[in-house]
Amino acid sequence: MEIVVFIEVRDGVAKKSSLEAASEARRRADQHGWKVAALLVGSPLEEAAAKVASYKPDRILLADDALFASYSSQSYSAALAEAVRQENAHTVFVSATTMGKEVAARTAAKFQTSVLADVVSIERDGNTWKTRRPVYSGKAYADVQSKEGAPVFITLRPNVFSAGAPDPKAKPEASKLSVPIQPQDVKERVVETHKAVSETVELTEAEIVVSGGRGLKGPENFHLVGDLAKALGAAMGASRAVVDAGWIDHQFQVGQTGKVVSPVLYIACGISGAINISPVCLLRNTSLQSTKIRTLRFLKSRTTASSAMRYRFFPC
Ligand SMILES: Cc1cc2nc3c(=O)[nH]c(=O)nc-3n(C[C@H](O)[C@H](O)[C@H](O)COP(=O)(O)OP(=O)(O)OC[C@H]3O[C@@H](n4cnc5c(N)ncnc54)[C@H](O)[C@@H]3O)c2cc1C
Repeated sequence: MEIVVFIEVRDGVAKKSSLEAASEARRRADQHGWKVAALLVGSPLEEAAAKVASYKPDRILLADDALFASYSSQSYSAALAEAVRQENAHTVFVSATTMGKEVAARTAAKFQTSVLADVVSIERDGNTWKTRRPVYSGKAYADVQSKEGAPVFITLRPNVFSAGAPDPKAKPEASKLSVPIQPQDVKERVVETHKAVSETVELTEAEIVVSGGRGLKGPENFHLVGDLAKALGAAMGASRAVVDAGWIDHQFQVGQTGKVVSPVLYIACGISGAINISPVCLLRNTSLQSTKIRTLRFLKSRTTASSAMRYRFFPC
């Protein structure tokens, strides 16, 4: 196997953004004649594994054990590292969710490498990956290239890479992954979970976001934003100004110190559009191979370099 995809499972369900990562892995593997192994960590995993199978990985690896029933970056990254070793992977795809970013970083450190993080486009160039990622709150893009040498860890921004059409007839081989970790090795433990209650779609995965700001004049008017979001099947968002004012819970905040969103349509109601809140709005190309990206502002070109990776900034 050459590509391992980490599938995030929440409450027994595979996250949509992980299915996007699995689809992108399939497309790349088909282009280059590679194989794909999808890793699921958690317990139970049956429903999620059945869903992932329809996205046609060559193999499904199941780290299904009581130890993985609650998320822990230590145990989950141990599972991903084991999958990468076992499959001799040269590339690892992980969705750039809160969990995905943590697991990818921790696992990459085990291989003494870094992560090509939060990318919105990827191209293979010889033995390296060329990727593009938003920087400065989406005001510019940086081109970041992997060094030669395996494995390369890449986190893919949710809602950018299309999930392909599922094939319910696909039946990849599934096997249990034995992870060399004991309960006493895990130093962190989930004591309690407080779930955010939201009647609308999850912000980070939403294709349409309707956000409200101080222009709404008061919390009593915020239902207008919620009503519109509901009517459009969209997620509801909010600016920091109204979150700080206590009009609405922080879980709805969009922006630099809130949630990163990548909708195809962003409707801002009574929001001034400060740099800290601009979303990355995406125009998807029907070919599924590439994604056109447009943000709301422009920045002057400039270049810089780091010792680990090469960056190029350009206007968007
Ligand atoms: C380090 C840092 C991090 C930050 N992180 C975030 C973040 O994550 N998210 C975030 O949102 N902000 C963030 N901010 C704050 C950000 O800079 C802005 O202050 C904030 O986004 C402003 O919120 P707003 O647009 O709701 O309010 P305002 O800037 O006050 O804008 C209100 C808008 O409503 C319009 N308006 C007024 N009346 C009406 C009306 N009747 N009808 C229609 N429109 C009307 C006004 O013209 C104005 O454009 C951050 C700031 C800093 C310094």
